[in-house]
Amino acid sequence: MNQSKIGKFISECRKVRGWTQNQLAEKLGITDKAVSKWETGKSMPDLSLFTPLCDLFEISLNELLSGEHIPDEKLKEKSNEILMDIITSWLGQDKWELHENTSDTQIILRLQNVKKNYENTSTLAVNNVSFQIAQGSFVGIMGASGSGKSTLLNLIATIDKPTSGTIEINGQNVVDISEKDVAKFRRDYLGFVFQEYNLLETLTVYENIALALTIKKMQKENVKQIIDALAEKLEIADILFKFPYEISGGQRQRCACARAIAVNPNLILADEPTGALDSHSAKQLLDTFLMLRREYGATILMVTHDAMSASYCDKILFMQDGEIKDMLDREQRTKQEFFTSILEVVAQIGGDDNYVS
Ligand code: ADP
Repeated sequence: MNQSKIGKFISECRKVRGWTQNQLAEKLGITDKAVSKWETGKSMPDLSLFTPLCDLFEISLNELLSGEHIPDEKLKEKSNEILMDIITSWLGQDKWELHENTSDTQIILRLQNVKKNYENTSTLAVNNVSFQIAQGSFVGIMGASGSGKSTLLNLIATIDKPTSGTIEINGQNVVDISEKDVAKFRRDYLGFVFQEYNLLETLTVYENIALALTIKKMQKENVKQIIDALAEKLEIADILFKFPYEISGGQRQRCACARAIAVNPNLILADEPTGALDSHSAKQLLDTFLMLRREYGATILMVTHDAMSASYCDKILFMQDGEIKDMLDREQRTKQEFFTSILEVVAQIGGDDNYVS
């Protein structure tokens, strides 16, 4: 349920009737502070107030909970959506976020026997790595500093080439793509939430996201439509016209997510996206990834050294000395249970001290 959308809708319904926040509060027998909190999306009306609110505004419960007027033809679809939302919030999202790797699931990324040898230092940074990722999964790569995570991510991102092995994205071996075509491939298939690919400081947030879309030759009206919809979902609508230096680190990362998903990429690559964030912003960003996966079917591969961030994933690959030493599937575990299992693996393969990459 979108709290801020519901808040805006309450405000709209109130204003249509020409009531002040105080007048609405009086009719409901509550304080105007509570009304103000709903309208700014800070809280939700108490359950016992749903019916009186609907009666006052002459709207249905479905409309109140979806935060908009619903035309008759959309009623069934909307009420199903709301029902699913409510069930999800009762049961907890964990169970609904699970994606089974069934045989008919489309494989987005497939690595086979990938090796990367840095000849200058004779370092085998990635050694015989094979794995695959199905569409709609959120996969984490963990490992101590120097274990090969960044090298592996750079190979998948087509920033670097492997010494041997194949890396297929959507069935295409990226190792074979020529220098000339690689930028276009990246633009068409990949979304980046990398520190180095952060927002351009001289453009507003809107322009940063729009840039990614106009490179794809999209019409101006469509660009606006996509950005407005994403901004609402990612809760960045009120900072769209600010410059990156005017917003917080967490907001910047959410904007980077908006830019990454805007072009509808097959795979989103994230490199330590929560590394520089406080715990509240980190949680918000990880929830954003879950939302992108749920609502846009995004497939996400994230490098992290942080077990809390990793506990949001549904599969973790653990790297050590360039190899995948262990894999952990979330299965039916809750976030907390998964977190504990991750810490156990981390302790087994080298101890927590090294996880400070
Ligand atoms: P991580 O991201 O897990 O910290 P990296 O992928 O950065 O690990 O590094 C893996 C190994 O490869 C390390 O031993 C590192 O020193 C080496 N390495 C990384 N990049 C280069 C490079 N450009 N040239 C030579 N060696 C490198």
